[in-house]
Amino acid sequence: MRECSHSLKREARRNLELIWLLRGPVPGYRTIANFRKENGAALKAANRDFVFLARALHLLGGELVAIDSAFFRGDASKASITTQRKLAERLRALECDIEAYANALEANDAAEAAQMPSSIDCKDIRGLPTPEKLAALMARRTRTKADLDRLEENGELQLSRTVADARLLTKGGHTVAGYNVQLAVDEKHKLIVASEVVNDGNDSGQLYAMAAAAKAALGVATLTAVADAGYYNGETLKACEADAVTAYVPPAERNQRLAAQGRFGRGEFHYDADTDAYLCPAGERLKPMNGRKQDAAGKLQIRYAARVAACGSCSLRAACLTEKAKLRIVYRWGGGRCRAASGPDARCRRNDATPFRRVEHPFGTLKCRAGYRQFLLRGFDKVRGECSLMVLSYNFTRILSIFGIQGFIASLAK
Ligand code: SF4
Repeated sequence: MRECSHSLKREARRNLELIWLLRGPVPGYRTIANFRKENGAALKAANRDFVFLARALHLLGGELVAIDSAFFRGDASKASITTQRKLAERLRALECDIEAYANALEANDAAEAAQMPSSIDCKDIRGLPTPEKLAALMARRTRTKADLDRLEENGELQLSRTVADARLLTKGGHTVAGYNVQLAVDEKHKLIVASEVVNDGNDSGQLYAMAAAAKAALGVATLTAVADAGYYNGETLKACEADAVTAYVPPAERNQRLAAQGRFGRGEFHYDADTDAYLCPAGERLKPMNGRKQDAAGKLQIRYAARVAACGSCSLRAACLTEKAKLRIVYRWGGGRCRAASGPDARCRRNDATPFRRVEHPFGTLKCRAGYRQFLLRGFDKVRGECSLMVLSYNFTRILSIFGIQGFIASLAK
């Protein structure tokens, strides 16, 4: 923050446009830093108003948005955040140490009484357990237990000591201590129409919230939203459906285990909506079974099964079934009309990355061109304000590159 505010202060002395804009005063770095800290709500409002301006300038298509997320570092180190699992392990280790220390102390006392002259204090003997060490261990155990209780009380899995709402977020083997930024990008000019900062590393609950925010910002009655498989979630897909948002989300790839075993995943089975059947790699039709099955998340699944005779004589059997299985079954979400779940579509084919590139553009620009990879403020409100400023800057430069400066001024004048 300090570094950033210093460079803004430098620009206020050096940059002619900025000098003209400020009309004289040169704010100190502390003033600049405090402005960002204290005006989160105003920055969010300015960001929202800028989207309305883009709407008025007919820069938003209002039909299709792409939703995606990226992790941004917070003002917290990885070491300052611990997980419930680590705390529980630490508690167990401390309890073992305390027990061992207590036993050793007892043995020490007994040995002292039996053999050592009374003038020697065991505290002076290096490496031997002492009551002070035991007391320190017990104090650590009390603190660790209190931390664990606090997590359980709040129903949380992580505890952040310096920035209360930053979390350890992991994707693709890479862990970040910070936040998960959600963006909804309008297809027409890749302008960001909705943004949010959350501290849940899993996107599966975010689809509807982002689609609804984008729909409100665009002021439309219906909207199409595309997102990657990380957003696949029955409840949020249903919520989209109920709110006139047509969501295209590829089913979550639950087939990594199958791929590791060299077996066909769900993506190898092609849905034929006309006959309501899946076509397997060998050309066999998998037909819907009677009844529906509820999965662990409470979603109703329709099961499609191949014929036992067909699987029994199939040359691809080894790549499809386990040794004991007699037939193959694939599952489809049966909670309602969902294009992504109900079959292949140009927008949600597993290997079709086109819709997602729409939203990768802003993230790429923010991270690589603007160098924005970390939040400098602490706390959700301030971080969300900072994110709004980031989005506002992105949209503003994007509009300038669409219109050019003169064109933008002329459009505003109109
Ligand atoms: S084993 Fe059955 S489902 Fe699998 S490819 Fe062969 S016929 Fe199709």
